[in-house]
Amino acid sequence: MAGTLRMGGLHNPLMGEFDLIQHFFQRESKAADGVASGVALGIGDDCAVLTPTPGMQWLISSDMLVEGRHFLPTVAPERLGHKALAVNLSDLAACGATPRAFMLALAMPRADERFLAGFVKGLFALADAQGITLIGGDTTQGPLNICITVMGEAPPGTALLRSGARAGDDIYVSGQTLGDARLALEVFRGALSLPGEQFEQVRRAMELPQPRNALGMALRGVATSAVDVSDGLLGDLGHILKRSAVGAQIDVDALPRSAILAAQPLPVQRECGLSGGDDYELVFTAPAAASQAVQHAAQASGTVVTRIGRIEAAPGLRLTDAQGQAVPATAFTSFDHFK
Ligand code: ADP
Ligand code: MG
Repeated sequence: MAGTLRMGGLHNPLMGEFDLIQHFFQRESKAADGVASGVALGIGDDCAVLTPTPGMQWLISSDMLVEGRHFLPTVAPERLGHKALAVNLSDLAACGATPRAFMLALAMPRADERFLAGFVKGLFALADAQGITLIGGDTTQGPLNICITVMGEAPPGTALLRSGARAGDDIYVSGQTLGDARLALEVFRGALSLPGEQFEQVRRAMELPQPRNALGMALRGVATSAVDVSDGLLGDLGHILKRSAVGAQIDVDALPRSAILAAQPLPVQRECGLSGGDDYELVFTAPAAASQAVQHAAQASGTVVTRIGRIEAAPGLRLTDAQGQAVPATAFTSFDHFK
């Protein structure tokens, strides 16, 4: 974009847009790794140039984060950098793609050096951990808004989709802290309070989600469908049910939950686990005959997975508790503890 941003920080009061891009986003030391990973040309020209791995398909996804809607102004810049990339990596994880490259389009009110230093620290720490390279983007002045586009690869036909669930498949969810992000949000909203240490733990779940890329890749050829939990388990599972034209039975007491969430009243546990968002765990399905392969994928990726129900031919969602009693879905829609 044209025009110049002026640094608000102490050290480079006159750093312009292009200096800023070079200083914060261009990492020369990573250029060689980039070439090795298929990035023929990264930041600095009008386009990036990628060399696809022969025989692989590209998988591409964008997610935008808007202040006030997707994150609170109180979040530390380092955590925001992490989360902006994490929610995008989570889409690659849901599809079982190997992360390759990403673009960053960033609008910010002013060129705040401290903000940018923290932001790229969190961003690149996760990028390096997942082997994904920043290859370009756009930088402009405006209300804080972060849009990342991720690119990954998978062998043809192996991408995990929402449409592959079949009656009889088991339903699994990854991780052990489903609902913690929602619990943190409710504390921020003032609907609940937690002791300081517990708040810090659930706040980490909300601000530092861990995308399940290793699990997603390990589930290629094993899972029949997958989705990542960004808007809440029931809502996101609903996408699988709709695209696969099936229904499901969910054992609400089987949902994995942290000790902190488990100490909350049952309605809060269920609300956070079933409709809380921002967990970025994977929900996926696999035939019963593949249960060993699922456990193997979980172990190989160092991720706990829990079976929470079964896909059924009859459309709709049936919730039951550990005793097999029906739990009316309306118990959640009518539950307004947080409203
Ligand atoms: P153009 O004027 O052609 O749109 P820009 O001046 O916006 O190009 O960007 C110059 C170079 O810096 C490009 O290679 C672009 O991809 C890169 N770039 C701009 N903003 C970012 C960003 N936030 N993160 C990474 N790369 C960026
Ligand atoms: Mg250009």
